[in-house]
Amino acid sequence: MKNKIPIVAIIGRPNVGKSSLFNLLLGERKSIVDEMEGVTRDINMGVVRTGRMTFKLLDTAGYLEKGDDFNKLVQEKIREALTGTDLVLFIVDGREPHPYDEDIARILKREQKPVIIIANKLDNREMEILASQFYSLGFDTIIPFSVSHKRGYVQIIEIIEDMLSHLEYSGSDQGPEAGEIKIAIVGKPNVGKSMLINRLLGYERSIVSDIPGTTRDALDDVFEYSGQSIRLIDTAGLRRKSKVSGNIEYFSNVRTVQTIERSDVVIMLMDAAEQITQQDRKIVEMVIEKGKALVIAYNKWDLKRTRSDDDYKQMEATRKHTYREIGIYQFVPVEFISAQDGYHIDRLMELVFRVDKDYHFRVSTGVLNAWVSKEFRESDLNKPSSNLRIYYATQIYSAPPKFMFFINKKEHVRKDFPRQIEKKLREAFEFTGTPIKITFKEKS
Ligand code: GDP
Repeated sequence: MKNKIPIVAIIGRPNVGKSSLFNLLLGERKSIVDEMEGVTRDINMGVVRTGRMTFKLLDTAGYLEKGDDFNKLVQEKIREALTGTDLVLFIVDGREPHPYDEDIARILKREQKPVIIIANKLDNREMEILASQFYSLGFDTIIPFSVSHKRGYVQIIEIIEDMLSHLEYSGSDQGPEAGEIKIAIVGKPNVGKSMLINRLLGYERSIVSDIPGTTRDALDDVFEYSGQSIRLIDTAGLRRKSKVSGNIEYFSNVRTVQTIERSDVVIMLMDAAEQITQQDRKIVEMVIEKGKALVIAYNKWDLKRTRSDDDYKQMEATRKHTYREIGIYQFVPVEFISAQDGYHIDRLMELVFRVDKDYHFRVSTGVLNAWVSKEFRESDLNKPSSNLRIYYATQIYSAPPKFMFFINKKEHVRKDFPRQIEKKLREAFEFTGTPIKITFKEKS
């Protein structure tokens, strides 16, 4: 969707406030309404420009409004309205769930569109709690709202922006690359990157990267490992001996940076004969800052390997030293391998699978908020000595996981608090090897 304006559709049963929401979001620019290809003219469309982006907004009121009967025709119409949309604002009457809502939810699920539930008509703060009734519809993002009072307006805009900007990065269609784990292997010259690639590809049955006519990037290698499709990013570049020979420059190498940017999981390869340095720490930092998951692998363990007990002690010592060097990134797992004889390559790949899973993991809003109330309602945070209040939280996206905490005032958030939340989130939900992002939104 990079080259087109994203489309947001307002869907909901009759009389929940679709048109009012449409008019509110569109503001004074109501007049910019044109027609859209392939979509019936009963659907109004306007262009919304927020601070951060522009999107087209579809209003299905008048189109879905006829009768309270959820028949085949209505289903068809909803499906038609969803064609080509990137995000759905699913508006409900927040005061009372209706069976019709469930019917709509079922269609939205089937169409696999990102959905924000807008629980409308919750005119005051006391009523907000009613919004939680709608978690049963199976969508994670629910905003208590009141069109007539404009309560929650800013929040809706911000969440739309967040979701759309995320779609822009990840691509809204899953396309041919769905399900692939994209791996970047980085490390200094001579740590064994090429050998690891060859070792991994040695396992594969069918390399598909060279099939003509596919859109695959010929620089990558795509193969299957334990039934999982893997894309090794820019293996062509890795095999070609780098002209960057110094140990220090390797991470600022443009090609390395690009490789990291295209990946989901980075394997940072180290030579087990060498200690981790502050330069390596910079790579760790860069990978995590770029929002990628990371595994550190010490290669050439065949040269260090001794009999079992000592071997374990050596690993522990290296691991300990590594964690001392990488400071706050204690969630990054460390493995010991030999690209040459294949030692622990299976464990490395299992680790990559696990890290990738955590990278894409979503905590459902129900579970998250049960955790929020347990963790923060009772802790000192919400005692009278602290002015900060956390109302609820939602995971607004994954890869990497990003959480939004709705609070009273940002000025009450202490500097170390995001880290504290991150730590607690990791204790509760693990998130091995993946960064976690945390943002705060004030709720008026
Ligand atoms: P790259 O520059 O990171 O791609 O490193 P290469 O894959 O070219 O490996 C550099 C050197 O290390 C070569 O001489 C390899 O044979 C050797 N090497 C790579 N992996 C291992 C390993 O697991 N054990 C041992 N003993 N040597 C290795």
